[in-house]
Amino acid sequence: MKLEGVSVAGIETCIEVPALRLVLDMGRCTRGAVQQPVVLVSHGHLDHMGAIAQHAARRSMLHMSEGTYLVPAAVARDVEELFNAAGRLDGQAIPRRVVPLSPGEPFPLSKGRWVRAFETYHRVPSQGYTVWERRHRLRAEFRELPGARLAELRNSGVAIEEARDVALLSFTGDTRIEVLERTPELQQTETLVMETTFLDQLVTVESARGMGHIHLSEVLERAPLLPRGHLVFSHFSARYSAEDVQRIVRERLPDELRPFVKLFGAGGEFTA
Ligand SMILES: [Zn+2]
Ligand SMILES: [Zn+2]
Repeated sequence: MKLEGVSVAGIETCIEVPALRLVLDMGRCTRGAVQQPVVLVSHGHLDHMGAIAQHAARRSMLHMSEGTYLVPAAVARDVEELFNAAGRLDGQAIPRRVVPLSPGEPFPLSKGRWVRAFETYHRVPSQGYTVWERRHRLRAEFRELPGARLAELRNSGVAIEEARDVALLSFTGDTRIEVLERTPELQQTETLVMETTFLDQLVTVESARGMGHIHLSEVLERAPLLPRGHLVFSHFSARYSAEDVQRIVRERLPDELRPFVKLFGAGGEFTA
């Protein structure tokens, strides 16, 4: 799944997912992000949501549908107040839809697709999100049958298909590593966008935890829990240049994880 935008710890995070018509966090309102009507907000730190009013106002100016902002229920009221204050400053109300979403609660995106929040562990109220899709396939006992026979069975009312829910994309936002053990869907998801703020001894695991973030060492210790689709490390500390990130991850990554890992930083996505 193609991701665009930016993500640097403490500076700005705004990750566009055009295929799903949504954006992960809104710390900066990029041109591409304005096109996407739904924003999944992981928490209230300004580098993750400081540009929501701009996003909503720009959509309105361009005569687009109002933006929808899914936010942790604990911050919904403050988010509304932020929109109200921004509207007063701007001299006009800002059309938007703020949706307080609690972990486990589904929000429909399109036919057969929905998003559900999961708990994360940061310094302020926070949550991550998974986009789910319901897919249908033939039940095992019918898979060898010719098409004509299947049509016959279907017409006679036999349920020849079964539904299964597939996790398309999961986004952790800012969190400590516990999220990986406590959220089983992260091990199955097709694309996992995970913060990996600190990468080496520049910051210890202990102080990374103190700041409510993940250290690469913690990720590598949990390799068996990582999904084998696309694993996107993001939200690197501003202390690392893009070259540092590439070099350190390349040095530290075991061969078994190499094929799955992508990096997402100041200039969008790049390879390890
Ligand atoms: Zn952050
Ligand atoms: Zn944060």
